[in-house]
Amino acid sequence: MYQLETNAVHAGYQPEATTHSNVPPLYMTTAYSFDNVEHARKLFALEEGGNIYTRLQNPTTDLLEARVSALEGGIGALALASGHAAIVHTLLTIAREGDEIISANTIYGGAINLLGKTFKRMGITVHFASTDDPETFRALINDKTRAIFVEAIGNPTANVCDLEAIADIAHENGLPFIVDNTFATPALLRPFEHGADLIIHSSTKYLSGNGTAMGGLVVDSGKFVWKGNPRFAEMNAPDPSYHGVVFADLGEQAFLVKARALTLRDLGSCQSPFNAWVTMLGMETLALRMERHSENALKVAEFLESHPAVERVDYPGLPSSRYYPLSQKYLKKGASAVFTFEIKGGREAGARFCDSLKLLRIVANLGDSRSMVSHPATTTHSQLSDEQLIAAGISATTIRLSIGIEHIDDILADIKQALDASQK
Ligand SMILES: *Cc1c(COP(=O)(O)O)cnc(C)c1O
Repeated sequence: MYQLETNAVHAGYQPEATTHSNVPPLYMTTAYSFDNVEHARKLFALEEGGNIYTRLQNPTTDLLEARVSALEGGIGALALASGHAAIVHTLLTIAREGDEIISANTIYGGAINLLGKTFKRMGITVHFASTDDPETFRALINDKTRAIFVEAIGNPTANVCDLEAIADIAHENGLPFIVDNTFATPALLRPFEHGADLIIHSSTKYLSGNGTAMGGLVVDSGKFVWKGNPRFAEMNAPDPSYHGVVFADLGEQAFLVKARALTLRDLGSCQSPFNAWVTMLGMETLALRMERHSENALKVAEFLESHPAVERVDYPGLPSSRYYPLSQKYLKKGASAVFTFEIKGGREAGARFCDSLKLLRIVANLGDSRSMVSHPATTTHSQLSDEQLIAAGISATTIRLSIGIEHIDDILADIKQALDASQK
């Protein structure tokens, strides 16, 4: 068993027999040739394992899945085209029309839309609760509930979730606890060690790390017991679209096999092998980057807190943060690098600050090696109602930073000159 840093470089790959390629090859192929008709028949009948078609599996994508699973300490993973696709494929493997899901209200703005509006149109009701008060999750559970979904570090105000408290509530009620670990990554936090059953990633962010490749994954701990759970009748009945298999009978593989063989087969948001390959390259430096991201972010947060133009800084690694005790428990290695602050001088000062930055660019992304700034109320969270904005901790003067891995002196100098300019 290797440590995370070693797994990030090696997990799942031995130089392959034909070419001895030292770096994992990129299998940019949509399909695989069968030896003969009988071989093809066996693969389709599930009598034999093997590659059929890249929507379902690809050796490069398989390796990304194995690697992210190793980093999180799971039994396997499924890669999807984006973080959003990972959320959709995960929840639609678990829930159907008429079912309900309980989600944290402090999640990625796009995910609030997806769950609150598009899922609703499909007949799946999503209730929103506050991770600041785990009991609000318990209060929303009923017979139709199928899962609890949170982000380990919320978006965009970096509220740290008390994972163990919410995991207990989920498990007391026979529900899987799904944790989006995009902000922390396994380099800073391993949610399976705190009760998560499934982990979701937008690998678009820190996992790939360079802002190059869209991607998402769901990782399974293998610990949730689907067999015999009355909430999951469909998992426990023969599936007519898949050889009459009872997915729950597959034990710890139940979720991943259903997610791939049924949800991904039919909804189709597979990850491109090229993106999987690029993501793996980025992931080799994950631990180094997260250490530097967190170190730089803490220094920026401390600087902002001491600056007269700043009203408030919400960074969980600051002792002044209400999430400091939770970050001491869950984020001992660092509190990642996405957080918000409130600038003095209203919306105009906020705009002047963003427009005065030279090194930091205004970008609708995060978790890139480049430092970036954004204004959530007019971009990532612009579809939210005023009430949802308040619940998410966002106002017109909220500025979000995603601190990169550049030299800290250059980052601080840029932020300082822009803060000064903002107050003129
Ligand atoms: C960006 C993001 C998503 C969505 O991922 P995409 O790759 O953009 O589809 C989901 N969750 C979190 C926490 C994110 O930051």
